[in-house]
Amino acid sequence: MSATESPFWNPKTETLPKEQLRALQLHKLQRLVERAWHSSPFHRRLYEKAGVRPEQIKTLDDIRRLPFMTREDWMANQADKPMFGDLITRPISEAIRYHLTSGTSGRQPLRVLDGRKDWAWIADMWCYGFWGFGIRPTDTVFFAFSYGSFIGFWGAHYCCEKMGCLTLASGNMTTEQRIKQIVEMGVTVVCATPTYALRMGQTAEKMGIKLREDGKVRRVIVSGEPAGSIPAVKKMIEEMWGGKCGDTAGMTEIGTIMIFECDHQPGGPHIIEDHFIEEVLDPDTDKPVPYGERGERVVTSFGRGFIPLIRYRTKDLVNKVPHTRCTCGRTGDIYDGGILGRVDDMKLIRGTNVYPRAVEAVVREHAEVEEFQIIIQRVDNVQDEIAVKVELKPGLEETWPRLQAQLGKDLADAHEGLRFNVELAKLGELPRFELKAKRLQDLRPKM
Ligand SMILES: [Zn+2]
Repeated sequence: MSATESPFWNPKTETLPKEQLRALQLHKLQRLVERAWHSSPFHRRLYEKAGVRPEQIKTLDDIRRLPFMTREDWMANQADKPMFGDLITRPISEAIRYHLTSGTSGRQPLRVLDGRKDWAWIADMWCYGFWGFGIRPTDTVFFAFSYGSFIGFWGAHYCCEKMGCLTLASGNMTTEQRIKQIVEMGVTVVCATPTYALRMGQTAEKMGIKLREDGKVRRVIVSGEPAGSIPAVKKMIEEMWGGKCGDTAGMTEIGTIMIFECDHQPGGPHIIEDHFIEEVLDPDTDKPVPYGERGERVVTSFGRGFIPLIRYRTKDLVNKVPHTRCTCGRTGDIYDGGILGRVDDMKLIRGTNVYPRAVEAVVREHAEVEEFQIIIQRVDNVQDEIAVKVELKPGLEETWPRLQAQLGKDLADAHEGLRFNVELAKLGELPRFELKAKRLQDLRPKM
């Protein structure tokens, strides 16, 4: 079999029997902890405080002896010792890349550096995902991405160059210009956030372009938002673009992706287990949860030389299921339904838990909806009210009364009968997003 016919980017490690995979992870973990102990004062302090030494890591279960690393500690370390804190393990002169987290809601962003080897590894992790979803050197890949300081699809761009694809950057283009180029260049793969993939599709319709017929797109690769694994969102993207939609997820703290959907698409992405240990823990007790139960991702990454990332609490909610869910042959386990949301995204409304992603999953079942927003308010200082504001696709106004009733019912059914106020927004009233869509506004007074 020639290299281009293999369904795997790394056939050996992607299909490694679980026992050998565990042995590989243990070996890499021991080396990583050893390296962090000797070259990252941040980690040394953390481990000394917890009374743990590298030689105590004798089995994979010993990972639980290690204290967690949190974003808060990392930010505090950067503030104490500007610019990068003392967790970086290489001299700054060896770095070739500088990136920042997107800095949600006024928080100080995290600053990260990568060296040459790190950057090559970052591209390689994307290659696992792109190759696994069927991207080949003959593809023309378009990145609908701003190419700024946010790491986003940067690594994926280098992955495509490495694989030999024709790779198109579009940092400075408007949505209309992007669509024109996608059609004109016969682009076969488009990369964007799920929200922006939908927005490009809607804009194309307004321009009178039928992407399904006028374009050659056969794959849409999404990242950056939990919605990429919502079946109804995927279906909308696929109908607009005429190609299969695959989800990936990564983090600036890691520098690249840690999970990707293979082209069998068993309902969730595989974990790249030869490069990451992904623990799933109960966010309250910190105890591991079994397969099939929701918990918080805690990640250990073996790839980044500049920044040891060991037991980093991500606050992402996931549900891990065994790799045998998929028939592709990969032995990396699967996150059923992708990233399910954030531990701190949960909203309590009149005693019922509401997750924005669950609301989105219901709303997106209705193809009439162009954009939506969730608004939570406290009325008369006592009663919490949740509203979903909906913007319809142009020309569908007459469907509103039926849709309003149906959405109200579907949302209540998905939330133990909780009443949602379903309201109509004017055309173009709701915000549109390119990156990290924020469709929930909690206007209740802060406690
Ligand atoms: Zn698979």
